[in-house]
Amino acid sequence: MTTKPLISKSKLPNVKTTIFTTVGDLARKHKAIDLSQGFPNFEADSKLLNLVSQAMNEGHNQYAPMAGFYGLREIISEKIESLHNHFYDPEGEITITVGATQAIFTAITTFINKDDEVIVVKPAYDCYEPAIALNGGKAVYVQLNTPDYTIDWVEFKEKITDRTKMVIINTPHNPTGTIFSKWDMQQLEDILKPTNIILLSDEVYEHIIFDGQIHESASRFPDLAQRSFVCASFGKTFHVTGWKMGYCVAPSVLMAEFRKVHQFAVFCVDHPVQRALSIYLKNSSHYLDLNNFYQEKRDFFLNGIRLSKFKYKPTQGTYFQLLDFSQITMEEDEIIGKRLITENKVASIPISSFNVNNRNDHMLRFCFAKNKETLEKAVEILSKLK
Ligand code: PMP
Repeated sequence: MTTKPLISKSKLPNVKTTIFTTVGDLARKHKAIDLSQGFPNFEADSKLLNLVSQAMNEGHNQYAPMAGFYGLREIISEKIESLHNHFYDPEGEITITVGATQAIFTAITTFINKDDEVIVVKPAYDCYEPAIALNGGKAVYVQLNTPDYTIDWVEFKEKITDRTKMVIINTPHNPTGTIFSKWDMQQLEDILKPTNIILLSDEVYEHIIFDGQIHESASRFPDLAQRSFVCASFGKTFHVTGWKMGYCVAPSVLMAEFRKVHQFAVFCVDHPVQRALSIYLKNSSHYLDLNNFYQEKRDFFLNGIRLSKFKYKPTQGTYFQLLDFSQITMEEDEIIGKRLITENKVASIPISSFNVNNRNDHMLRFCFAKNKETLEKAVEILSKLK
């Protein structure tokens, strides 16, 4: 009897274990200070935690409505209108999702068919390309230019073809910590205006932006807003990445299609957490104070390594700081990243794996969403590297 293999063809033949898992495992094995993965090592506000217990004790433990608890959608709508002057109808234009990841995956699955092209700005967060591939689409890359990781809009425009169905942007940007300026967003708006291309705008770090700069959400630009999914993450904003709670907003024609997929992927998401967030969001300082909170951490980290051999530009947004190690060595970033863990006991993420053709920019990404003690230990080690 011949046994046929259970898996004859992988749907994602090129997907390996992510760099985050590989680095995280190595960091644990070598007891390194872990500044690799993007999550805080401090607790969320106890007020928020108590609101979740309260919601559970009040009996909100059954399915939430498919699109999300209405009270949460309402407060999100008010928040976006006050920040970006664009009204999203809570009824048909806002959906609560399992983190931004599910919003992104669902939006791609809803609109991408075989051979559709999706423009992806590189280096890119790693959940976009597998979702495009699973739906038979093709990622078309626009690589940001070093040393400042700026985008060349002329090159971007040249990448648009009749097959381009979607563009994915991410501002503030992981892993580079750059942001799109108003001018950048206007370029994008002008380029997309004559097309029917959908914009997927990953804005999970919307409330982590520094030096008094403004987050230029796609919602602020009328022609972009009417073609955009804007994706957000409560995990990033409220130090609760483990809750996997996010949302997306889009005009009703797009959102109606999105919900057809959403309802069969998850139907609805965690109910008590939604109840808690709907109350917690009423106090805008809970998210507006985040810029200062993280700017202090960024500045503490950068001050600590100012006499080191690393070169850097202070990150403009996100809780990541890129450090250029070219004054220490010209080796591959993966090699020095590994050595930093095994010999020096600090873990970071080499960014070549997010670039086109694994371009080596001599950059490592450090997450500064850590308590003072952790950052102190890390900067002491990094300062001494020769
Ligand atoms: N987009 C970017 C750029 C991210 O950095 C992350 C989280 N690392 C996500 C999306 C996913 O967010 P969530 O945890 O809410 O799914």
